[in-house]
Amino acid sequence: MTSDAEIQTALPAFASGNVAVITGGASGIGLAAAKRFAAMGMKTVLADIGGVRLDQAKQAVAAIAGEDAVLPIPTDVSKAEEVDRLADLAYDAFGAVSVLMNNAGIGNNPGKPWENRDAWKRLLDINFWGVVHGVEAFAPRMLAAGKPGLIVNTGSKQGITTPPGNLAYNVSKAGVKTFTEGLAHALRNEPGAKVSAHLLIPGFTYTGLTEGATQKPAGAWTGEQVIEFMLASLMDDDFYILCPDNDVARPMDEKRMAWAI
Ligand code: NAD
Repeated sequence: MTSDAEIQTALPAFASGNVAVITGGASGIGLAAAKRFAAMGMKTVLADIGGVRLDQAKQAVAAIAGEDAVLPIPTDVSKAEEVDRLADLAYDAFGAVSVLMNNAGIGNNPGKPWENRDAWKRLLDINFWGVVHGVEAFAPRMLAAGKPGLIVNTGSKQGITTPPGNLAYNVSKAGVKTFTEGLAHALRNEPGAKVSAHLLIPGFTYTGLTEGATQKPAGAWTGEQVIEFMLASLMDDDFYILCPDNDVARPMDEKRMAWAI
């Protein structure tokens, strides 16, 4: 594990006292991020769809950083007005945000597009539009602050290789990939280019999203491992944070970016 000092020297956005907002922060990869950032002395805002899980996540992060350093904000990222409100509350409570993780996502398979239009739309509203809403709400303020900032959007290998199966999910994550590439280019052209965008592509990770489907397979990633890999990749200034595949059941050829099926 890279030391906090090494990370914070290379990436000032993670400085102690800085503020990170994590959507989908109540579980899995998002919660692992919040705990790791809290351990570095950051203030964290957990944006998730409320309920017991968000309360429990808040307690888990508070145990690391203290009650005053974590703010849970019930938010449905599919609704632009709720994400705008999230930004207002986060800035009111903690001041300038330096790290934004647009990480909330669902994986339910709504089947074919002509079978269940509402479920298709819901999945895209959360997985794709939720990311766009986060960028719309936070990027202008992060740019206006003129300080180092990082935006990490969570995609998926399925958005690149589109394996047969969950077409709606693949489409949503392909959208996140393309959107984030464009965002990264746009941010590089901003004066000073202090805010950058990155695409996190987790390996198969045992989280709330996947645990219902199967027992944790040997070799599956944990959320904590994904976050350590992300931090190391950010230190290398990688745009693609592509977790190497260790899904033995469905190995991916990294060079061809295709599923070996
Ligand atoms: P998870 O289910 O543990 O966490 C996702 C969180 O998003 C949950 O807390 C959930 O309540 C929240 N969420 C769902 N809908 C929301 C909404 N409308 N508004 C706000 N929050 C909402 O799953 P995870 O595996 O940690 O997933 C995190 C991200 O990683 C997702 O975008 C997922 O697609 C992506 N991902 C996961 C894997 C994997 O193998 N687990 C692989 C590739 C990509």
